[in-house]
Formats: sequence, structure tokens, C-alpha cells
Amino acid sequence: MDQSKIDALRAQPVTPQMHLIEGLSVPASDGGTMDILSPIDGQVLTQVARGTAHDMNAAIASARAAFDDGRWANQPPAARKKILMKWADLIEANALELAVLGVRDNGTEISMAIKAEPGSAAGTIRYYAEALDKIYGEIAATPSDVLGLIHKEPVGVVGAIIPWNFPMMIGAWKLGPALAMGNSVVLKPSETASLSLIRMAELALEAGLPAGVLNVVTGEGAVVGETLGLSMDVDVLVFTGSGATGRRLMEYAARSNMKRVYLELGGKSPNIVFADAPNLDEAAKVAAFGIFRNSGQVCVAGSRLLVEASIHDEFVAAVAKVTLGMRVGDPLSLDTHLGAINSETQLKQNLGFVETAQAEGGEIMTGGARILAETGGYYMAPTIVTNVKADATLAQKEVFGPVLGVTSFDTDDEAIRLANSTVYRLAGAAWTSNLSRAHKMVRAVRTGVMHINTYGGADGTVPLGGVGQSGNGSDKSLHAIDKYINVKTAWIKL
Ligand code: NAD
Repeated sequence: MDQSKIDALRAQPVTPQMHLIEGLSVPASDGGTMDILSPIDGQVLTQVARGTAHDMNAAIASARAAFDDGRWANQPPAARKKILMKWADLIEANALELAVLGVRDNGTEISMAIKAEPGSAAGTIRYYAEALDKIYGEIAATPSDVLGLIHKEPVGVVGAIIPWNFPMMIGAWKLGPALAMGNSVVLKPSETASLSLIRMAELALEAGLPAGVLNVVTGEGAVVGETLGLSMDVDVLVFTGSGATGRRLMEYAARSNMKRVYLELGGKSPNIVFADAPNLDEAAKVAAFGIFRNSGQVCVAGSRLLVEASIHDEFVAAVAKVTLGMRVGDPLSLDTHLGAINSETQLKQNLGFVETAQAEGGEIMTGGARILAETGGYYMAPTIVTNVKADATLAQKEVFGPVLGVTSFDTDDEAIRLANSTVYRLAGAAWTSNLSRAHKMVRAVRTGVMHINTYGGADGTVPLGGVGQSGNGSDKSLHAIDKYINVKTAWIKL
């Protein structure tokens, strides 16, 4: 990557963006717009349409019509594949432009965003494009006088609601399998990270996706998100975001057409380090980046560090050393390790968690405060809080920011008890050279993902999904396809 190209892109003004409905850019029905503030400097970057219920209903009607007339679902699989492959190519060809636009909107450090956002999105779209003509129905083991066929059909209209931390990556996790299986989609990006998704959807049209198959409506969750959730014409809702919103979506489904609801929610993931970890220096480095990359705004962030008491002081000092070496600042500089916090609201919330942690007996080892306020942007020093008790707020609640809580343990059983002591069940890790202990941890820690001797980095071949209050269903891998199909039985008397 070339810093001068990044700088040239950041110097360009961002034109105000509108909804994408029926293949066209359209303003809000009442002409409303909302300012988009860049977390880099707190300045207005551009405007997007402030969607109304009317706008959302128009997008849903467009997706419904596109599905019902079969303009996408009834295309031969090879034709759908070709278009999705072309879309992936276009995302890749425009990767730097997309990444810089996304970073100006959400603040992720560019070194991470380029891989995690357009890079990952292109890979995901390609993965499902390649898969779509390799998915077969089934013939059941019936008596010989009947034939039992199990068809896999698209569900219909998918409503996808996306958060701000990795809009393109998470958007592609929904769009890839949904579109590959022939569904139509209405996408609702986050208020604070919609720009790159609008551009990505435009590239889908350029690749040949028929108008109406993918619509994007921007605006407030409480307005357009609610309309999407309550619609009688949406067949499945897929969501990544907070538990509070996830709960609402389940209510919307119950109050409307009982649409299927799949939720990818928050986490409070335990990173358990035993004294027999194969390489404690490596573990310390990975633990630090495992919480602090994207300034902790990562659902699977290893936000609880559980350390065996015999190595506690030495290990935490090593994590602190790595943390103090992290450069926080301009997310568009290639030298930056940690970019900005997405919004001022989120920054204040993070600082509130630190205050509470101290009031509850935690000790700040690094960070704990806002930095670089003179830029006007939202930056926070990566923060390590030690002596966090198992029932402290910092051990129980998701911060979704650069705050690591450290707790020590003495035995395997205590580590497992601590690991399982929150309502979240998203991800975790254990570091040990003992093969048997490693496998026992995988079984005992109740999460959707367990890492052993690493943290993060699982690719698209494996599912990502939480259980408990971290959600249901999963993104990524062929398992994600189940969310976007109905199985239908044909029972045929011979
Ligand atoms: P959020 O729940 O505030 O917002 C997510 C989306 O929901 C946004 O598009 C928002 O506009 C929309 N929304 C808000 N209120 C709504 C309503 N009443 N009806 C319908 N839609 C509504 O979450 P966020 O702050 O954008 O994202 C952070 C959260 O996402 C964290 O909890 C994080 O852990 C979680 N997350 C989870 C994963 C995962 O894979 N499990 C990945 C990334 C982020």
C-alpha cells in the first residue's frame, strides 16, 4: 500500500449519498439528510439520506417484486455465479477507494481495514459465488413406492441490518450467501458507517445484479430499521449489532409475520493464559492486539484476560509493554496501529466503563483517557485494568472499545468458571502446551469460537456465531447458507 495514494483519496470530497432503490439513487421522501461526522477529526464528511418509513417500504416493495418475478432467483446458477464473481472482482479493483472511504466514515486503522473490509468482502462474495452451483437437494430414504425429494429454495426477501465496526466485511457475510441462494435483499447500514456499503452495492449493479435485488436504505435504526423489522413482506432478518437491538428485532418479528431472525451480537470473550503456554512473549503480543485492534471495536475481541496466578505479574507486564508501543492516531496513516473510536458517544461510553472499573476496585495499568483531543477526533489510549473481580461491571458487560480487564486464576476449574461467568458466548481462547488441557478448554468454555494458542484470524471456511446472548445462527462457511434457504419436501407417489 502506498501512503501517497491514500492521501490523494482522502483529499477528495465525499459527495452526499442517497438510498439505492430499484437500481436508482433516490433521496429521502421528505428530502431529509443527516450529517456524517468523520471520527478522524469530528468534522462533517458528507450527508446521507435520512430514510423514512416510506423509503424503507419502497425498498421492501422493490425487493419483493424482484424476488417474485424471478429476475434473479430464476437465473441459471452459472449466470448468478458470473455476476457475483464480477462483483467480487470490482470490489477488489476498487479496494483502496472503498477502504479509504470506509475509514473516513468509521475510523478503523487503514492497515487493518484494507484486508478486513474490501479484501474480506471480495473473498466472501467469491466464496459463495463458487459454492452456489455445488449445493444440491436431497433424495430421502423412502419406501420404493414413493419418492421423497428435499428442495432447497431461497427464502425470499432478506432484511440485513449492519453495525459500524466492519460494514463491508459483515455486510458481505450476509449478502454473499443471501444473494448466492437467489434471495433479494434490503440492507440497512449503521448511521455511522454507511458510505462504503452504498458504494459496494453500486458495484453490484455495475457487475450486472438486476435492479431491485439489492436495495440500500440509510437512516436511523429506530425509523427505517424498525420498519424493516415490522414488515409483513420481509421473510428473514439477519442482524449484527448489540443485544438491545437484537431483542427488539425478535419483538418486531413476533408482532408482525413471525419472520426468521438471526442475530450476531456482542461478546465478553475470555482469553485464558496458562503458565505452560508455548510462548509467553507471543501470547502477550497476540493478547494485546486481540483486544486492541480496531480500538477494541471487534465483536470477538479478547476483552477479558484470565491469567494463571503464577505468571500473572510477569505476563501482564509483557502485555502492557506491547500496548505502550502501539501508535494511536490518524487511521489513514500506514504507521498507525490503532485508529479512532467510531463516535463521540462511543468514546464517552468507553470512558464511563473505565471510571466504573476503578470505582469497583480495578487498577489502571495503561491508558484510561481520551487522547489527541486537539485533532477534534475521537481517540482513546488502549487501557489495561488489572484486579478486575469476576462480578465487576468490566468483567460482565461489553465495552466495545479499547479496554482490557485482567483477572487471575489458580486452577483449570476456576479458569473455566470465570470464562463461563457472563451471559455472552461468542469467542474465547486458551494458551497451553498441554494438548489434553487445550481440548478440555474447547469443550468446557461455552462459546461459538475457541482459539488455541492464537487469537482471532479464523477465515471464511469456518462459522462465526455466538450462542446464549451472543446470538444464534452463524455467518461464514457453508453453514451460513442455512439461514437463506427453506427446505421443501416433495412427496411423490410412484
Ligand atoms: P447497534 O445495535 O446499536 O446497531 C446495529 C444496527 O442496528 C445499526 O444499523 C442500527 O441502525 C440498527 N438499529 C438500531 N436500533 C434499531 C431498531 N430499533 N430497529 C432496527 N434496527 C436498529 O450496534 P452497533 O453499535 O452498530 O454495533 C456494535 C455491536 O455490534 C456490539 O455489541 C458488537 O459486539 C456487535 N457486533 C457483533 C458481531 C458478531 O459477529 N457477533 C460483529 C460485529 C459487531
